[in-house]
Amino acid sequence: MVSTPIGNMADISRRGIDVLGIVDAIACEDTRRTGKLLSLLGIAPPKLIRVDAHTEGDKAAVLIERLAAGDRIALVSDAGTPAVSDPGARLVSACVDAGIRVVAIPGASAALAALVSSGLPTDRFAVYGFLPRKGTDRQRALEEIASKGLTSIVYESPNRTRATLIDLVSVCGPDRHAAVARELTKLHEEVVRAPLVELVERFAGGLKGEVVIVVGPAPKPAAASDDEIEVELVNSAAAGMSRRSAVDAAVETTGATKRRVYDIALAVEFSNDDRSAP
Ligand code: SAM
Repeated sequence: MVSTPIGNMADISRRGIDVLGIVDAIACEDTRRTGKLLSLLGIAPPKLIRVDAHTEGDKAAVLIERLAAGDRIALVSDAGTPAVSDPGARLVSACVDAGIRVVAIPGASAALAALVSSGLPTDRFAVYGFLPRKGTDRQRALEEIASKGLTSIVYESPNRTRATLIDLVSVCGPDRHAAVARELTKLHEEVVRAPLVELVERFAGGLKGEVVIVVGPAPKPAAASDDEIEVELVNSAAAGMSRRSAVDAAVETTGATKRRVYDIALAVEFSNDDRSAP
């Protein structure tokens, strides 16, 4: 699994060049494009095998036969890391099932480049690839992005970017922090970081090039007050819940720490009292 540049040719790794130079065959999405990459790298092309999203399933058997016979085959996509919104995952899964060793030669990926330059939290993130174009699948994905407490990464075509930003405003609200990363590693590289509504305005005239949209996490709900937590616990007690279950439920709904909820619960009467420290 050899990552290739997403724009700047200097981003191929030395190991990537070595591997592409020694393998017996290279499986690729587009033989012309990969042929061009190899000629830029000064590598005499071994046999290129076309494996795209439509042929991946059918080609797996042939590739696995060759790999099992000892051939070394590299998989590349048109740009970036194969199997990330590109063909490859099914092939890897078939190789793993067949006991064939799969190795990643890591390198550029638009998702990670956009994430780390966005200025948004990087501790937890999800890569959505391209969102479904329409219908309930799209709405569900948008709502998931809106509600999750992690940073979301979306690939988008330039002519659909503004419409997607508008859809994101409608589910996430206008103030959610986001970034549009465009033409990463290329001459006209640009990362615009702003609340979603400002990004919609900024790209009112459309935009060109390759685009990744990064959306910040859903804001944490405002911390509940002691009184609010107590009311919740009293209601749970009245409903017959045990102290421990009521504490767990209040932690879940208020986002307060278990220690804090437990301390407040000490002042609440529970008929079902399974009192124990958290
Ligand atoms: N596998 C690739 C990777 O690891 O980055 C992604 C392939 S996906 C088919 C192509 C999408 O990646 C583009 O439509 C765009 O959203 C994003 N992309 C690729 N190159 C980019 C770049 N230089 N700048 C911004 N986005 C890019």
